[in-house]
Amino acid sequence: MTVPAPKPWILGIAPYTPGRSTTDDGRKVTKLSSNENPLGTSAAAKAAFDAADRTLERYPDASAAELREALAAHYDLDPARIIYGTGSDEILHLAAGAYAGPGDEIIHVRYGFAVYEIATRRVGAEPVVVPDRDYATDVDAILAAVTDKTRVVFVANPNNPTGTFTVRSEIARLHAGLPDDVLLVLDQAYAEYLSPEEDDAGLALAMTEPNVLVTRTFSKIHGLAAERIGWGYACPAVIDAMHRIRAPFNVTTAGQAAAVAAIGDTAFVDATRAHNDTWRGWFVEQIDAMGNAGLRPVPSKANFVLVLFEGSLSADAAYHGLMEAGYLVRWLPGQGLPNALRITIGTEDETRGVIAALRALTDR
Ligand code: PMP
Repeated sequence: MTVPAPKPWILGIAPYTPGRSTTDDGRKVTKLSSNENPLGTSAAAKAAFDAADRTLERYPDASAAELREALAAHYDLDPARIIYGTGSDEILHLAAGAYAGPGDEIIHVRYGFAVYEIATRRVGAEPVVVPDRDYATDVDAILAAVTDKTRVVFVANPNNPTGTFTVRSEIARLHAGLPDDVLLVLDQAYAEYLSPEEDDAGLALAMTEPNVLVTRTFSKIHGLAAERIGWGYACPAVIDAMHRIRAPFNVTTAGQAAAVAAIGDTAFVDATRAHNDTWRGWFVEQIDAMGNAGLRPVPSKANFVLVLFEGSLSADAAYHGLMEAGYLVRWLPGQGLPNALRITIGTEDETRGVIAALRALTDR
């Protein structure tokens, strides 16, 4: 029997496999593996979600008009230059799909977001993976990797899974060094965790530079991961190209309503950022204090910390030990990080619990 042959280039993709919040023996564990908001979502967003039109037989607003207007008003943007997606994941796929294909190259850093490679291979393009500089994005390495086949560069800022941040002047230097026909995708999934002074000016760049696309999400600080809503900002030509291949009706009615309310609830965003600053700071201090056991935190500006295990306790053993203690974190051997765990900053109790469990493991 002959079966349909998939495109050879997709066979190089390892499917994205998130952690599960139950163990093999069915125990529920606390999920600190997907960088979700431990404080939940904004009460206003939840109320808007609950009050949203529940008509099941009608499609949502395909143009996401209210959502775009609300984003434009909040960030002082042109609503016509906003695209929306089923998570910002979809926008990353749209960028690759609109600008690259077989024979083309897409650059991302070695320790980068897993979807970059998936989006690249999906369209038959070749991922060009560049080295980091002590886990941080190395602008020179990216610029050195550019060839006449380069079509897209993906940079997350802050970066996942490292949490590292690339300052505004470095982003400007990266953009200035790229050919005009290369699309620079600045993935700002964690941008709201930065203080306003730390802003990398990505949106400002996307306002004036035709080859810059900024992507954002409601999954992280807004706590709306279940609804899958992301958005992007770029010049009209880039937005037009991505709309051509976007799935129709790609953001749900209730999701759009929740997102509009979430944008307005700046107090919730500020409270989440403050919580994250406090507990990430505490978490990092505690990991530093376990330095003699070989634990080392990578400096993070996001809602998670990458912890390196350079002593006798391996990341593998720590991952399983934390699971035993009731905490699911992210171990990323498949992404070249067999000696590290990425741990989301949870509630106070969760954060203290993870540290207590790690201390017990290092004391063993
Ligand atoms: N970019 C980065 C860097 C991420 O970490 C994530 C979520 N893990 C995303 C994009 C996608 O998030 P979403 O599709 O939920 O918007």
